[in-house]
Amino acid sequence: MFMLGKKAKIDTTLCVNFCDYYKPGTNEELECQGFVVVHRLLKKGKRLSQARPGIASVPDARTREGLRSRVCSACSFREDDCDFMLSGGTAKPCGGFALLSHLLGSGDLKLEEIE
Ligand code: SF4
Repeated sequence: MFMLGKKAKIDTTLCVNFCDYYKPGTNEELECQGFVVVHRLLKKGKRLSQARPGIASVPDARTREGLRSRVCSACSFREDDCDFMLSGGTAKPCGGFALLSHLLGSGDLKLEEIE
């Protein structure tokens, strides 16, 4: 799951650095919503580091829940293919969600900036 194929030849830095599920070269055409949101922010000119931090920052529970409702609710993997959602949040999320969560925790991003 969460694999990005031909469509994402663009920039998979996020997937490589943050997604435990990413497998380069696979043929999955769908992108997880976390990836879509990060790339939408970058396209709009938001400056975001995609470097993997030594220790990831963690936002408070309310912010994390807000992230889930803003990002995961629009994700095509949510129902059947996301371990994070299917496990009730105990499995790792996709790379996009992980990066967004870190950025919210570090204060580099505000929940309101995520559409
Ligand atoms: S964590 Fe959320 S955005 Fe990421 S794949 Fe799962 S449902 Fe989609």
